[in-house]
Amino acid sequence: EAKFKLRDVSVYYGDTAAIKKVSLDVARNEVISFIGPSGCGKSTFLRTLNRMNDSIDGCRVEGQLTLDGDDIYSDSRDVVELRARVGMVFQKPNPFPKSIYDNVAYGPRIHGLANRKSELDDIVERSLRGAGLWEEVKDRLDSPATGFSGGQQQRLCIARAIAVSPEVVLMDEPCSALDPIATAKVEELISELSESYTIVIVTHSMQQAARVSDRTAYFHLGHLVEVDETNQVFTSP
Ligand code: ADP
Ligand code: ADP
Repeated sequence: EAKFKLRDVSVYYGDTAAIKKVSLDVARNEVISFIGPSGCGKSTFLRTLNRMNDSIDGCRVEGQLTLDGDDIYSDSRDVVELRARVGMVFQKPNPFPKSIYDNVAYGPRIHGLANRKSELDDIVERSLRGAGLWEEVKDRLDSPATGFSGGQQQRLCIARAIAVSPEVVLMDEPCSALDPIATAKVEELISELSESYTIVIVTHSMQQAARVSDRTAYFHLGHLVEVDETNQVFTSP
């Protein structure tokens, strides 16, 4: 069964529809990219998947959205739990003004995933390894995250997201604020993470979509106009 099943999803800001009747299935452990011009609704659609839109005044979601068959927008849905299952990484690296350790330990602490300090240490190490950051920071776990490079901070944000063992990681232009070398590292990381997670990425780069994703979904003016297997992108006329 699909990870996400979306049917006739529309998203409104006030009276204006930013997303219009989008239907899409996202498969388990798929990497799918959302691409399209600025303002076409990619970020809005991404945020709809873990209800990050809930906090936006006047934002309203219509249609059917399920995660593993369960309604994402049901009244009984625990949104905090949903956001642990469907984690998010933003365009601008946004580590908390805390140590490397405390950034990664934040989610596991909130969700009570470790009973002992040694268990929390293990989760922190595993998450930092998963984000390809362990060797770079293992001797500086108590240093403030803000002292690290942008690329390291973004991989830290990925470590923070995976520390709570999510099923899905949403990424909104995760490389737009990074230099080419840091971008290449994050793209490589995305390919590795795809073994374990379903990944949905918003990008404005066709090349990036082709490099990292299995499928690419094209948005235009709030409509989903086309979904291609990524290897067909450059062969279609
Ligand atoms: P992006 O294209 O990367 O999504 P934008 O510059 O369009 O970034 O938007 C940045 C922030 O401003 C987002 O949080 C978005 O929700 C908000 N925003 C965008 N358009 C509007 C708008 N018309 N009214 C209010 N907020 C908006
Ligand atoms: P993209 O990510 O493709 O740049 P967005 O999802 O950010 O597109 O925006 C889609 C449309 O919704 C745009 O017209 C934008 O101005 C509008 N929009 C985005 N966020 C808000 C918001 N918080 N309030 C009102 N309008 C918004």
